[in-house]
Amino acid sequence: MISEKKDIRSLSKEDLRDFFEGLGDKAFRGNQVYEWLWGKGIHSFDDMTNISKETRAHLEENYVINHIEVDSIQKSNDGTIKNAVKLHDGLIVESVLIPTKKRTTACVSSQVGCSLDCKFCATSRLKRMRNLNPDEIYDQVVAIDKESRLYQGMPLSNIVFMGMGEPLMNYKNVLESIDKITSVEGLGMSPKRITVSTSGVPKMIRKLADDEVKFHLAVSLHSAIQETREQIMPFAKSFTLEDLKASLVYWHEKTGKKVTYEYIVWDGINDTLEDIDALVKFCKAVPCKVNIIEYNPIDDGEFQQAPSRSIDNYIDKLEKNRIPVTVRRSRGKDIDAACGQLANKAT
Ligand code: SAH
Repeated sequence: MISEKKDIRSLSKEDLRDFFEGLGDKAFRGNQVYEWLWGKGIHSFDDMTNISKETRAHLEENYVINHIEVDSIQKSNDGTIKNAVKLHDGLIVESVLIPTKKRTTACVSSQVGCSLDCKFCATSRLKRMRNLNPDEIYDQVVAIDKESRLYQGMPLSNIVFMGMGEPLMNYKNVLESIDKITSVEGLGMSPKRITVSTSGVPKMIRKLADDEVKFHLAVSLHSAIQETREQIMPFAKSFTLEDLKASLVYWHEKTGKKVTYEYIVWDGINDTLEDIDALVKFCKAVPCKVNIIEYNPIDDGEFQQAPSRSIDNYIDKLEKNRIPVTVRRSRGKDIDAACGQLANKAT
């Protein structure tokens, strides 16, 4: 049952300090409670052992401590782990642990479902139910960090916002979660190890620049030709490539940071020389790198991975133009944990 009480984890440290001052107690108690909630990650007021019994009872009367449950875990042959995560209201999202030899990466969700309509992505078939709260994003990272220590023998090293949802359409909560992930009271991770991936929402990219964020930005480009992009990502009619490019120029001017373009090459969709030339031209607007990602089929439909010859054509032309390009093999395909496959199938 969903409680009527407010989630104490929606309060900032300042709010908690004010709460205790209002009770005639020391503001410092607020810091102690904050540390229990975020640093120690407890789920019950009774565990706050340095807080008096009376105060704990008072907190219990007024608040709940919402938290996620890892409902089920699936392990891939390649070591990738997918968590189905149950939220306090029973909705489910997925997050993924991707290990390599030297590091482990968490791929986290930012929304339940997605409001965008990328035709090649399984999540777009689930309608957007709601945004995730900062604590729900944070908890996914904590859960994956624990699994990373348990199964890989090392703490989590990187985070990518490439799970379900469009992070920039849940801007405030995503940024708040990153504040908690990077703060010393939270996980103390460097923002340089975090990448937020967007389908390309120009207004919010400008806002990121204005907010002088320190994490990396990736843009799911997939085509630098307006007409083609609209066919595969229909929302691009509202967020045009011209506007996207202008917002990225602004991003670079303000932050001095590069952009990563994620790009899938599909047979008969974006595999011609014209497509490659358009990408090269787009890449000249701001310093960038291109990450060619493998397509993970979601059905037998119109989208088919282009042959390696087409990918080589892209690599040749990009390299000739001194644009860094990497090709990323997909991970966790056997458990539908790879990019674009997150659709709560196992639940
Ligand atoms: N909405 C954000 C983040 C979620 S998608 C975004 O679009 O960036 C994360 C990445 O997976 C994006 O680059 C997206 O284009 C890619 N993706 C989606 N469906 C895919 C599929 N079936 N195969 C491979 N990558 C896919």
